Formats: sequence, C-alpha cells, structure tokens
Amino acid sequence: MTQEIGGFAALELHPNIVAAVVATGYEEPSAIQQQSIPIILAGHDMIGQAQTGTGKTAAFALPILNRIDPSKREPQALILAPTRELALQVATAFETYAKQMPGVTVVAVYGGAPMGPQLKAIRNGAQIVVATPGRLCDHLRRDEKVLNTVNHLVLDEADEMLKLGFMDDLEVIFKALPETRQTVLFSATLPQSIRAIAERHLKDPKHVKIQSKTQTVTAIEQAHLMVHADQKTSAVLSLLEVEDFDALIMFVRTKQATLDLASALDAKGYKAAALNGDIAQNQRERVIDSLKDGRLDIVVATDVAARGLDVPRITHVFNVDMPYDPESYVHRIGRTGRAGREGRALLLVTPRERRMLQVIERVTGQKVAEVRLPDAQAVLDARIKKLTNSLSPLVADAEATHGDLLDRLTADIGCTPRALAAALLRKATNGQALNLAAIEKERPLVPNSAPRGDRPDRGERPDRGDRERRAPMPLGEGRARCRTALGARDGIAAKNLLGAILNEGGLAREAIGRIQVRDSFSLVELPEDGLDKLLTKLKDTRVAGKQLKLRRYRED
Ligand code: AMP
Repeated sequence: MTQEIGGFAALELHPNIVAAVVATGYEEPSAIQQQSIPIILAGHDMIGQAQTGTGKTAAFALPILNRIDPSKREPQALILAPTRELALQVATAFETYAKQMPGVTVVAVYGGAPMGPQLKAIRNGAQIVVATPGRLCDHLRRDEKVLNTVNHLVLDEADEMLKLGFMDDLEVIFKALPETRQTVLFSATLPQSIRAIAERHLKDPKHVKIQSKTQTVTAIEQAHLMVHADQKTSAVLSLLEVEDFDALIMFVRTKQATLDLASALDAKGYKAAALNGDIAQNQRERVIDSLKDGRLDIVVATDVAARGLDVPRITHVFNVDMPYDPESYVHRIGRTGRAGREGRALLLVTPRERRMLQVIERVTGQKVAEVRLPDAQAVLDARIKKLTNSLSPLVADAEATHGDLLDRLTADIGCTPRALAAALLRKATNGQALNLAAIEKERPLVPNSAPRGDRPDRGERPDRGDRERRAPMPLGEGRARCRTALGARDGIAAKNLLGAILNEGGLAREAIGRIQVRDSFSLVELPEDGLDKLLTKLKDTRVAGKQLKLRRYRED
C-alpha cells in the first residue's frame, strides 16, 4: 500500500500543515474534515453538527491555521470551549498541527490559573487563543480591546456551552469581536437555542452534517466498555484474557497506535502485527496471509490499512479507538460475522465519546450493551479453562506413552505423582499466575471507579473563570478524600497512584474510591475507617520518583 497522504493533500491545505498532519499519523481526513475544511478555507461561516470522536477539532483547526497570517503578531482566531480540559485539548491539537509553521503561537485561556501570563501571551502576539467563556470575559473586563483583531471565531461544543450557562458570556464575547469575522459553530445537537445564536451571529452559514443512514448489523454481538484513554492498552489485555477468539482485528486511529498496541500485545505473547498505510503492499499481503492461516491471531489496523481485508477466521473486532462515524463502525465490525458465522464486536468508549456511542446505537438501531472489565475471578476461570482445554486431549493416551516415565521419575525424585504433576504444570504454564491473589497483583491497574457514561470526564467542569472555584466530585459513602501535591504535570496517572496505594497500603482494590488527577495535585478517596493508620503506612511512599505525601483533604 502506498502512503495515503493524497486525502489531506487534496484538501488544498498548506503543505506544512499537511506535513504536520501526516507526521501525527493521520492517514486520511474523516468525513467531517472532508466536508468542513473546504468551507472554512473559503471563508464561509459554518454550522457543523458533530460530536467528539468525529475528528471535529482538526476539521476547524487545520483550515483556521491555514487562514491566519503568522507574520502578524496579534490574536487572529478565537476558539471557545466549554471546559478547561477541552480548551487545553484543543490548544494542544493546534500546537501539533502548527508544528511546521514557525511563528505561530497558541495560548490557552482558562480559569484557575493566574490571569497575568495569559494576558501577556495574548499581547505578545499569540495568533490563536483557545478560551473558556468565563475566563475570557474576565479578561475582557480588564481590557475590552483584547479581541479587536480576531477575525475567525469557533464555538466548539456550543450546546455544552449553553447547557453550562454561558449564554450571557457568549453575548459579551460576540460584542467584543469585529463584525466582519468568520464564525464557525460546532455542536453535537442543534436545539432551538443554538439555532437562535446561529441566526443572530452567523452570516449565511453553510451546514455540515454527517448523514447517517440506518444500517443493519446482524449476527454480530456488540458491546462497549467505558474506559479512560490512558487505560486502553490495559483494558484490551484484560479483555483478551476472557474473550474466546479465533482471529481478531483491532482498530486504532494512527500509525503509531498500530505499532504501539501491536508491540504491547506481542510482549504479552500474542501473535500480533500492525497494519498501517506505511506498510508496503507485499508486507501487507504477508500479514493478511498469516492472519488467514493462523500464524497471526491479531492484527492492529487503521481504517485505511484494513480496507478490503476479508479473513473468515476473524471472530472478533475490537474498536480500540472510536470510528469517526457510524458508517465506518458498521464497516469495521462487518469484518467479523463473515459467511453467516457469529461475530463479536467490542467498542472502547472514553467518557468524552459517549455521545458517539449513542449515535452509533441510533444508526444501527441496536443497543450496544455495556460490559465491565473482567475481575480477577473471571480471568482465573478463563485461564483455567484454557489450560483444561489444552490438556484434556492429551490425557487419553498420555498414560500409555508417559506412564512408565512418571513412575520412574517419582521414584528417582522421591516425590508423589501429585507433586510431580504440580511441578510439570508450573513448568508448562511458564510462571503464569493461576490463583486469585497472584492475578490481582499482576493485573493491569484500572481503577474500580471506571468512568460511567453519565459522568463528566475526570473531574471535568465548566470553567467559569474566577467566579466559581472548581468543586471536586461528591464523596463516596464511608470514604475520606485525601490529597497529594503530585499531579499530571509530575507525570502521574490514576493507575500510578492506585498501584502505589495498593502495594504499600495493603488495601483491597475495592477499598479505593475515585481518583482524580489534576494538573498540580490529585485527590484519592480512601476508607475513613483506619485512615490515619493508612496514611502513616504510606508516609514514605514514592510515586514516579517523588514523595506521595498523602494528606487528609478538607473541602472547606
Ligand atoms: P475529535 O473528534 O476532534 O475530538 O478527535 C478525536 C481523535 O481523533 C483525536 O485523538 C484526534 O487526534 C484523532 N483524529 C482526528 N482526525 C484524524 C484523522 N484524520 N486520522 C486519524 N486520527 C484523527
């Protein structure tokens, strides 16, 4: 297969933008990108109906980057987002796509951080400002001219902004911007309130919606699992333990992800390979042939690379990254259930993508049931079942062929046949954990507070500038909240905290409640009962090379 950069190159974006996108590992534009990019490039106002997971950020970020003038050191594009998490995410996306555009700077403006440096960055000539409405209004109150030069405005997740009560702030911001600007509005839904905004503030907008025809999916059992993005690999490894598969295809979005996941699987002993647009045609054919004849069991592919792949052995499809639209979901899962056989499709959903799940359910007309990660007992049962299945065919004639040897060995070693059989089992299972305690220990750490579809993503909150402090999530019963000064900026993820507390605190997994990792600190829910003792026990614990210093956290 040749390098598929044609898709992006054909969109008439600046070659440096295309190069950055290709370097990011994107192989072709998603449907929303295909449709929105030419419209925004041409300078039209636009209403895009799309939710997270469709690739909407790049759909506006790429053409906006194309339209700014890097030689002018003044704000030219303003992106509004409902939460600081989304604002940061969008700002990072802009930085990624602008990697090969020297002179372009991006500033994220959100509450909870000092205002001075943000204002300074704007005044120093950041061309792209990504802001939450609350904090941006705080800035406007200090300097009403700060947005005078902005000629592109994007409202990202407009419905969320209204739901969070930002209507008045938005009106203040609209007034502060030049009338001649281009305005682009993205929203997952288009209720009357959004249409009213569009009517008042957009000029002759073009509409973009990914049309989804109802598609039937039969003979494929579908399920989804809610998971945080950084826990996907652990989740996949856990699922593989209990899924009874023959051959399996996993879909991810980027070339890098195909390589990373395939090597993680390989390290765990699975016969896995990556398939992406960089892989030469003859190598691609070799991979597919190997999957057909069982030399490979798992292929980790991008949508582009999996085109035309038809392997009847495939019993399972894992959508590790969300497809861009329902059609591609249907297309992906159609890789299984071939020739009238039953297939199974699993979809990993991060909290921000739950809307996309609903769209998929609507379009396919089927409920995609929620499954949980298997617990240690389920993993143990699955391992024992595999062992039983592999040994039982041997039992029939093994005594005839190896019975005498067994007698001799037990006599030579001076042990019982049971002791010898146990030793052989240990050897045959290669040190694999085959009891509950050992499995608990080796299992990938996924907090028991798995994200639910109905909860905001990891402490995500509307950002109301300085007018409201961000409150932590409500506390679980019988639990106390503890705080550590270690956070995401120290390279900490929830699983690191969980691991350290489990190992050093000697707690059961169930005892640990929600873990919220923020940038400069983290909150962990622990049992109130015996908390002081536990904190003493954890006194010297270190995580990521730094002292944990967990303390009881008082909310007021
Ligand atoms: P969004 O819907 O903007 O939140 O994007 C969801 C994810 O898709 C992000 O992780 C993007 O990096 C990724 N993404 C966006 N466009 C593409 C593309 N054309 N190819 C591969 N990944 C993409």
